[in-house]
Amino acid sequence: MTDSSQPQDLLLIERCRVVACFDDARRELDHTDILIEGPAIRAIGKNLRESEKLPPDVPTIDGRGHVALPGFINVHHHFWQTLTRVMPRVQNAKLFDWLVEQYHLWESLDVDGFRTGARVALSELLLTGCTTTSDHHYLFPTAAPVELIDIDIDVARELGIRFQPTRGSMTLGEDDGGLPPMTVIEKDERVLADYERLISKYHDTSPYAMTRISLAPCAPFNVTTHLFQETVNVARRHGVKIHTHLAETADEDVYCAERYNKRPFDFVADQGWEGPDVWFAHCVKINQEEIERFARSGVSVAHCPSANCRLGSGIAPVPAMLKAGVAVGFGVDGSASNDSGDLLGEARLAFLLHRAVGGENAISARDCLYMLTRGGAAVLGNDRIGRLEPGAAADVVLFDLDQVAFAGGPSTDPVAALIHCGTSHHVSWSIINGRIVVERGRIQGLAEQQLVRDANAVTERLVAHGMKKRGIDYLKHVEW
Ligand SMILES: [Zn+2]
Repeated sequence: MTDSSQPQDLLLIERCRVVACFDDARRELDHTDILIEGPAIRAIGKNLRESEKLPPDVPTIDGRGHVALPGFINVHHHFWQTLTRVMPRVQNAKLFDWLVEQYHLWESLDVDGFRTGARVALSELLLTGCTTTSDHHYLFPTAAPVELIDIDIDVARELGIRFQPTRGSMTLGEDDGGLPPMTVIEKDERVLADYERLISKYHDTSPYAMTRISLAPCAPFNVTTHLFQETVNVARRHGVKIHTHLAETADEDVYCAERYNKRPFDFVADQGWEGPDVWFAHCVKINQEEIERFARSGVSVAHCPSANCRLGSGIAPVPAMLKAGVAVGFGVDGSASNDSGDLLGEARLAFLLHRAVGGENAISARDCLYMLTRGGAAVLGNDRIGRLEPGAAADVVLFDLDQVAFAGGPSTDPVAALIHCGTSHHVSWSIINGRIVVERGRIQGLAEQQLVRDANAVTERLVAHGMKKRGIDYLKHVEW
């Protein structure tokens, strides 16, 4: 292990109101203890203090009044986008217009800015129940160094979250018919070399690995066909997963039809992107035949309902995917399209949204919690996370139901209360790899107010860059 995290030896979580295991038996156990040893769960049951013959001074968390679940898994994000949230100029823009404006802001991001963006993104995820996250880092401004994934990994280790970053890229710029300006475009060869560097430096295949690498060219409208092909070759040589945006908007359908005379999925599938090592973000504009192809080949999906709603892109047909047997997890997506990184909030939105359009049986609270845990684990290809049982990773979150928002819920259905009643999405405790990362609602070692000040300062620098370079006031509201 190259990670710096030092799991505690033993940790007892005692008398949880309910432990929702999300194991194969889908057990939900009232008034139950969880015993953690090192990076793994050793036992789940009642009175473990006696039955496991624990020493009297074993470190203990009082679980009374709390729901314990496997830590949630976020399978799509762009950390740096936390720095350009709720930008007045693009509040009402659809994806392509929104992106083009944002590229011109992001091009001036430096190492300090990327570090701050990652800290904000990871803090918000930790507070809303996330214990494992991916990140789709595709922005490599020409003025910045190539080692930007390294910064994200640094911050993840500093905060103690399990991390599966994806090496993203944009290699098809506006000069060659792509969407982004050339200031954020890389050469295919540089990306391919960085794939090899990152895999050899960070990819950890041990059972409780805290860092694994995946590969992720950004989208069909900003990456060359060659890089899509070569990414598959590198990934399959090393046994790592691959990821990209797919079928997010109607504009993407038009772009792929005009440029490739294909639907987006046909275009990437023709480059080899079909199989259990592939996961796609969004899949809003996917049809039933494509869903069945996903199910047959093992392709999985990151569902990002907030970003799809925020940009007016549409609603991904997730109930049909689940019915067909496609693995689906949640992604908060970049916080400039979502404007939030509330992972439990994604699940509540999905619960409401799919019922609004599909009826009262379209999706249940437990379906959504399953997607946050087992679904996410399947998407990332990690069977040690997303479940609570002996031998699973010791990633546990505790939500305190002793709050006004949940009053009554503990007496009826405390597990479903997290989704049905849940307007309070903050964890009280989060344990990752056996180590307490959030304690009584506070992230260990984080100076939260200083982080907010740092982020605001970076945002002001980006806006000033936009004004200086393009003469555009990003803070000016469009007419309303
Ligand atoms: Zn995205």
